[in-house]
Amino acid sequence: MNSYSDYFTYSGRDLVCDGASLREAAARFGTPLYVYTERGFRERLLEIEKALEGIDHLVCYSIKSNSNINLLKIMTGLGSGMDVVSGGEIYRALAAGASPGKIVFAGVGKTDEEIAYALDSGILMFNCESMLEIDEINRIALRKNMVAGIAIRINPDVDANTHHYITTGKKENKFGVAIDHLRENFKKLGDTRGVTLLGIHAHIGSQITSIEPFVAALDRQVALIEELRRAGFDSIRYINMGGGFGIRYRDEEFFPVARLAEEIKKRIASLGLTLIIEPGRYLSGNNGALLVKVLFKKKSGAKTFLITDGAMNDLIRPSLYNAYQHILNCVRRDGSEVVDVVGPVCESGDFFAKDREITVSAQGDYLAVMSAGAYGMSMASRYNSRRLPAEVLIGSDGKAKLIRERDTFEDLVAKERLEKLV
Ligand code: PLP
Repeated sequence: MNSYSDYFTYSGRDLVCDGASLREAAARFGTPLYVYTERGFRERLLEIEKALEGIDHLVCYSIKSNSNINLLKIMTGLGSGMDVVSGGEIYRALAAGASPGKIVFAGVGKTDEEIAYALDSGILMFNCESMLEIDEINRIALRKNMVAGIAIRINPDVDANTHHYITTGKKENKFGVAIDHLRENFKKLGDTRGVTLLGIHAHIGSQITSIEPFVAALDRQVALIEELRRAGFDSIRYINMGGGFGIRYRDEEFFPVARLAEEIKKRIASLGLTLIIEPGRYLSGNNGALLVKVLFKKKSGAKTFLITDGAMNDLIRPSLYNAYQHILNCVRRDGSEVVDVVGPVCESGDFFAKDREITVSAQGDYLAVMSAGAYGMSMASRYNSRRLPAEVLIGSDGKAKLIRERDTFEDLVAKERLEKLV
């Protein structure tokens, strides 16, 4: 592939991100190194904003996909809200200057501490996943003399046709409330004084490449909102479709945002509702790459292993989901070869690619693991006492900026206390 995206492309033999040489970035900042394009983050959000022009809407960037506060600042600077799933993510969103009135808080297991923190921060609403959770929010809100805005995440029971680990809208998944169960609780919900029902939420899965599952879920949400309004819930003002728009990992077509927006408009334009969407991967995924260095080129039987200094702890998607991540050499050479690209961690599952044909590579080369902007750094760990990688942003001015330092060895033990043991 000559040009992987508008943002990561070969200029002569050099792989560049918005004009900046990735080989130079790797040499300057060291590897493993995440590199992001500011222009890409901006343009993906603006694309969605443009598609949704004409209807009231709020894009809440799902920060679990990549939560570096510099990236969050880019998003908030363009008016984006934030979809968060923990107290830590609320903290990050606020630290990045997000407006609390544009924060929605999801998750099946919110703690009392997180609920109180969210209420004190003045977030827009909780996306609630069970009646038990609503009881808890109600109790804490009443104690504080507050009324919490909530949406109920329904389980629309549609198949998103994606990896079973990232399908979330089927009956057998742990997420959301079944519509029948919600119906049985209309009365109780109406009597719950510490919460007010602002909307209906659904999130059917991730890396969904067609619009049909979204439209099917939306139809169920609209029908439910109409039923709730008939039952007297006139506080409903939002319909939240969640995230899940797919990106390019191999050669997928780009997700048809504009086509989906047209279908949404047809369905909700006359309902007096504000649409919320929570894209994560779509905004971050194709806008980042993980740069790693080939430490050894090891032949074993018929196999060739490129052993890199990056590993599953830096980017776990291939190990966790057997996910495909495209791999490019930062300097294009002539010819190709079939290799396994693996890391140094002591697990057979520590790989980026298996039996993959890539450009011929040599020891010391830098490789770019593409589409690593989502669920890369945010899922990274220190397994094997490896230091969390550094992150660099290629600014709209084409300059590389360090937005997260690599861990030091001291960071690895900073929270451990030396106790006197008997
Ligand atoms: N909203 C909710 C409730 C989620 O659980 C997720 C992902 O898990 C997202 C949004 C973001 O999904 P994606 O990154 O696929 O857009």
